[in-house]
Amino acid sequence: MIATHLHNDTVINVAQLLKARVGAVRTVTVQLDDFALDEDLRVRKLEAELRLTRIASGILVTGEVKITSPQVCARCLTEFEGTYSESFEAEFWPSIDVFTGLPLPAPTDDEIFVIDENHQLDLREILRQVAILAQPIKPVCGPDCPGFQSLLPGHEDVGDSRLAVLQALLEERTD
Ligand SMILES: [Zn+2]
Repeated sequence: MIATHLHNDTVINVAQLLKARVGAVRTVTVQLDDFALDEDLRVRKLEAELRLTRIASGILVTGEVKITSPQVCARCLTEFEGTYSESFEAEFWPSIDVFTGLPLPAPTDDEIFVIDENHQLDLREILRQVAILAQPIKPVCGPDCPGFQSLLPGHEDVGDSRLAVLQALLEERTD
């Protein structure tokens, strides 16, 4: 059985895993409150279920990031809180050899992350990138969203044909 460790920060010491044979696995759950995605975008809650696997070049991190964040419905403009998830995988390479302490060459691929000289693997940047991907482009408040109709004053007034045409167009688009 693999023990799952709960983390409330983004830094994990992976010295033991780096010393383990290729194929060794460690699972980690990361839970963060009020996580900043950029200067003016934050998620209220982030939870990540992660699997760290020792591979020849370093550590492969795979898993799913779940975010809970305030949204504004793209159809009716209601504010609500939505939960979204996104899967990912990323490679982390050690910057020094865990046995000899000698420096290792830096990755040439800029999509590969680096584990620091104290064997600390920092998930902050990958979690930030995946959380941004998880954010919906057009959030919808729910299956009962009233849609654009709720934004049209007096939409029940059939006397205004121009409004009826506009309303029909909007309904067509949002179906
Ligand atoms: Zn809505």
